[in-house]
Amino acid sequence: MRICSFASGSSGNCYYIGTEKTNILIDAGISGKRIIEGLKEKVGISGKELDGIFVTHEHIDHIQSLGVLARRFKTPLYATRGTWEGMKNKLGRVDSDLCNTLHSKGSLEMGDINIEWFPTSHDANEPVGFLLENENKYVGLATDTGMINKRMVNALFNIDALFLEANHDEKMLLSGSYPTYLKKRIRSSKGHLSNVAAGQALLELVNVKTKSVFLAHLSQENNLPSLALKTVKDILNEHKIDCTFDLQVAPRSQASTCIKI
Ligand SMILES: [Zn+2]
Ligand SMILES: [Zn+2]
Repeated sequence: MRICSFASGSSGNCYYIGTEKTNILIDAGISGKRIIEGLKEKVGISGKELDGIFVTHEHIDHIQSLGVLARRFKTPLYATRGTWEGMKNKLGRVDSDLCNTLHSKGSLEMGDINIEWFPTSHDANEPVGFLLENENKYVGLATDTGMINKRMVNALFNIDALFLEANHDEKMLLSGSYPTYLKKRIRSSKGHLSNVAAGQALLELVNVKTKSVFLAHLSQENNLPSLALKTVKDILNEHKIDCTFDLQVAPRSQASTCIKI
């Protein structure tokens, strides 16, 4: 599989996961133009070749160009019932036969990729994370979640690559300029994952197969890429986990390198 982040953070999220046969996006929270450029430059495909866009939740940084892409390329969209409810009136007109509902605890096959979804913990209607599999290689994605619980650990089984939220540094958030209600929201179990929480989650998630981890959805205000990497590495070192996998930050406003797993 090939994976790439086109953008990651509160100003927009979009991730590509695909094979020679199947091309999938998770979220479309940046402009359609940037997504089309990313597909062309990083993956070498056109928008027409997209097989589906899976949506984690209805916040605008995840759905900005969903309607545009569906109209232009007739790309099927996949979201939970709650997410569809939350996206009502936000996408413009989309053909109903492009709108597919992900029922709870499910999986589906698209081309040669198997996709599973699982609930995340976030202040949205029915947010989910994803696990995609092709030829026994697994790629997971868990962003916009206030915590990683046992169920999510179990769902993110046997990963070869992972996009994991490392949203904020606790100290930067607490001493930063955000109003109290927003700090509280971000820190809650339905908010966003801190660097420390991401590091602790990785202790349970990485295994000998894991080749690549992207720290994702970093806050511009309350985090720094170098700090997120250091915090996570320190936690892994403390627990004597050999960081043999590639650990990098998914850039906020540009595409990451496209990697093969
Ligand atoms: Zn978000
Ligand atoms: Zn969100």
